[in-house]
Amino acid sequence: MTRVVLASNNPKKLAELSAVMAGFGFELVPQAELGVEDAEESGATFEENALIKALHASEATGLPALADDSGLCVDALGGRPGVYSARYAGPSADDAKNNAKLLVDLAGVTRRRAHYISVIAFVRSANDPDPVLCTGDWHGEILDAPRGAGGFGYDPLFLVPTHDCTAAELDPTEKNRISHRAIALAKLKEKLTAG
Ligand code: IMP
Repeated sequence: MTRVVLASNNPKKLAELSAVMAGFGFELVPQAELGVEDAEESGATFEENALIKALHASEATGLPALADDSGLCVDALGGRPGVYSARYAGPSADDAKNNAKLLVDLAGVTRRRAHYISVIAFVRSANDPDPVLCTGDWHGEILDAPRGAGGFGYDPLFLVPTHDCTAAELDPTEKNRISHRAIALAKLKEKLTAG
């Protein structure tokens, strides 16, 4: 197995990504286990941030690296919160505060379309001239009150029209089958197979 550093310390992401990468002979190691600190996510786009994180982890360890960056883009807010999804309500934001701010910002707004985005970046080295970038999106609408206790982040407000429930009411297996992250992961699998 080739070791690949994962530029995240989120155990859920580790499990999801490990399952795919193991099939290609890659063993994922969270960056904290190798003493790597989080990179500053200074990019303006999901692609930039995923690449910044992957290159930072690869440079610090000399290993290939994998990173992902995701968030929610709301049409009526010009794509916000976007790359700021995790800290939408400020530096001490949490899911509840972010959801509350989203409801305030959308008060009285009837156009409620939104989508989640996930970008996964894989680099073979810190100088890789041809990084693998895979994007997945998942379209829905923002409700005016939360529903459901599953998922995380904005899921209680994110109505999934194909299933007529919120992402927080979806069976977790189903969410992992149809979400933005699942789509990006499937593309990663395809690209690694082709390469
Ligand atoms: P991260 O960069 O992937 O850790 O996620 C950034 C932020 O985007 C999270 O803190 C959530 O607010 C939001 N987000 C990303 N993916 C999801 C999801 O699947 N459900 C709900 N919120 C999400």
